Amino acid sequence: MPFRGAIEAGGSKFVCGVGTGPEDIQTVEIPTTLPGPTVAAAVEWLRANSGVGLTCVGIASFGPVDINPASPAWGFITSTPKTAWRNFDFAGAVRKNLGVPVRFNSDVNAAILAEAQWGAARDIPNCLYLTVGTGIGGGALSSGRLLQGISHPEMGHIRVPHDPDRDPFPGVCPYHGDCLEGLASGPALEARWGASPAALPPDHPAWRLEAHYLAIGIANFACTFAPERVLLGGGVMRQSALFEMIRREVDRLLGGYVAAPEILPPLLGRRAGVLGALALAIG
Ligand code: ZN
Repeated sequence: MPFRGAIEAGGSKFVCGVGTGPEDIQTVEIPTTLPGPTVAAAVEWLRANSGVGLTCVGIASFGPVDINPASPAWGFITSTPKTAWRNFDFAGAVRKNLGVPVRFNSDVNAAILAEAQWGAARDIPNCLYLTVGTGIGGGALSSGRLLQGISHPEMGHIRVPHDPDRDPFPGVCPYHGDCLEGLASGPALEARWGASPAALPPDHPAWRLEAHYLAIGIANFACTFAPERVLLGGGVMRQSALFEMIRREVDRLLGGYVAAPEILPPLLGRRAGVLGALALAIG
């Protein structure tokens, strides 16, 4: 198989890769600065490391991004709080500089594709990937195809029941306050408890509340998409005690009416993003 190029674009760093899969991918990290110099550095590295030449490049980008092929802004980063990147024609800049076809999607959509190709979603046609870190994002495969509509899903921004007597914290989402991301992302944990998630011990009350909110999200997604498996990744999920707490809470919330999905960690870990970009390029 010919080499494909991969760009995982994150808010603080880009991970670029060339290869055909997890066995042979070579990667490099580039700090995210302004769009022009960051994309120039990524393109230069891809060109220098592509051997006989790339046939296609996949971009897995932080977002929101425009992934509607009929839209004039396809391939753009749209309403990001990172103002220099707002309305940036990301796919166009890479295509112009490298002269090869570009495939473009959100970082979480790419991550579920990578897990489907090489990781914990292999042979699972209905699978959901949720990342719980700086934000909360989700990608889903339904009958083996990416679930998307007018845009990619924004599963972190669903509204969840919030009892102010149990949890007076107002939430951190600049758009919605106490949406799922506003209540359960890493920054929400840190603001509510005054300590980073990594510093909170497994028996801290933070985790029961965290499991409760994430389980509400998963129970809603289980009723909507009927996934066989849910993969939970991202920095907050490094607290491995959360998995069992979430499984129990999802069972309780579903009340035996709907089959609970298997809830597991992803297999590709920190490489899911760049491998997702590669999976996009493979198509
Ligand atoms: Zn929100």
